[in-house]
Amino acid sequence: MKLLRLGDRDPSVAEARAAFIHLGFLPVAPRQTDAADGPGPGALGTSTAPGTGPDPFPASPAGDAGNGGNGGPVDATDQFDSELDNAVRAFQQSRGLSVDGIIGPDTFRAIEEARRRLGDRLLHYSVTHPFVGDDVAALQERLSNMGFDVGRADGIFGARTDSAVRDFQRNRGLDPDGLCGPRTLRELKRLERTVTGGRPDVLRESMRLLARGPSLLGMVVAIDPGHGGDDLGVSSGGLCERDLMADLASRLEARLLASGLEAYPVHGPHESPPEAERAARANEIGADLLVSLHVDASGSAQAQGVSTYYYGHARGSSAVGERFAALVQREIVSRTDMVDCRAHPKTWELLRRTRMPAVQIDLGYLSNTHDAAALASTEFRAAVAEGLLAATQRLFLPPEQDPPTGQLRVPRIAARA
Ligand SMILES: [Zn+2]
Repeated sequence: MKLLRLGDRDPSVAEARAAFIHLGFLPVAPRQTDAADGPGPGALGTSTAPGTGPDPFPASPAGDAGNGGNGGPVDATDQFDSELDNAVRAFQQSRGLSVDGIIGPDTFRAIEEARRRLGDRLLHYSVTHPFVGDDVAALQERLSNMGFDVGRADGIFGARTDSAVRDFQRNRGLDPDGLCGPRTLRELKRLERTVTGGRPDVLRESMRLLARGPSLLGMVVAIDPGHGGDDLGVSSGGLCERDLMADLASRLEARLLASGLEAYPVHGPHESPPEAERAARANEIGADLLVSLHVDASGSAQAQGVSTYYYGHARGSSAVGERFAALVQREIVSRTDMVDCRAHPKTWELLRRTRMPAVQIDLGYLSNTHDAAALASTEFRAAVAEGLLAATQRLFLPPEQDPPTGQLRVPRIAARA
C-alpha cells in the first residue's frame, strides 16, 4: 500500500481524516469538503491546528513527484496537514505503535481494528481468516471478566476465544454454536452489569509462571534472531545486524542449555520469516518465553542505547512481559555501559501473536560510534547473553529470593533448583 505522511495530497488522506474523526482523534471538522470552492491551496493557511499558525502549503518531498496534485481543484481534506499529523501520532501512541506520523500498513491495520465495535458484525472462529479488531478485544475482556479463559485479550478471535464463547453459551443455556450473534451479545451485556473487572487474563498469565516455581528445568525459551538469509537488518561500518544477532542468539542458546533450560531458535540462519510466522512457531513449540534480538540504526549519530519492548497498549499489557522487559533492561544496562532507553509497550505482530510473555530487545544503535564498538566486541555480546539468562532466572524467582541486579550467578541458582 501507499505510505501517507505530512505534506502528501491524495484522496485516501480524506478517508484517513474521516477515520480519525470517527475515532475521536480529530474534531468533527470545521474544515469542509467544499473548501474546493475556496481560493485553492492557500485556503489551508487558515488551518486551526493548535500551535501551527498559518501553515504554508508544504512541498511534496523530493522524488515523490507525480504523487501530489498538479493543478486542478483542490479538496482541502486530501491534504495531509499538521493537524492530521498530530492526530496520527496521538493515535499511534495510544495503540502502542511506533510514533512516526506515517500511515503505513501497521497504522492502517490499527485504524481498521479500532473502528470495530462489538455488535458491528457477527463474530465467530475462522481458522483461515480470523476476526481481528477492538470488537473482538471487547468480547474477550467481557468474557475474561466473567472468568472465562480467553487467554490474553489480544483482539484476535482464535481457538481459545471460540471455546470461551461456547463455554459461556453453555453456561447461560444458549446453543453453544460459537456465534456471537444478538442473543449471545445481549446475554453478555446483561451479565456484565453484575461483574466487576480485575484483569483475570493478566492474573492467569502470572499464575502459570508462578506455578512453575523457581525451577527452570524444562522451561522452554524461544529465541528469535531478528534477521537472516538475504535480510541483513541494519548495517554500518562493516557490521550487520543479522550476523551480530545470530552470534548473540547462539551464545544465549548455549547459556540457556547449560543451565538446564530448553532453547529453540524460531528460524534458521538462512531465512527471515514474517513476524506472524515467528510468533506461530514459538506458539507451536509451546515456549514459555520469547526473546527477539535486534539492533537499531538512526539518521542521528547521537541516538544510542538499549530498549526492550513487550506487548501492551492503552487498555492493558502483558504483566509478565512488562516485568521481563524491565529485568532485561536492568540486567543488560548493569553489565555493560549502554544507555538505558527503558522498556516500552508495543502492539507489534510478534509481541501480540505470541501466547507466552515475549520481548523484543533493540540492543543499541549501529549508527552510533559507542554502541557499534560495543556490539563489535565478543565480551559485550557474552555479557548480554549472561544478562538475558539472569533476567530469565529472576522472572521465576519469588520476590524475596530475587537478588540485586547484576549479581545473580546463574549456575548457583540452577543448582539449587
Ligand atoms: Zn532488526
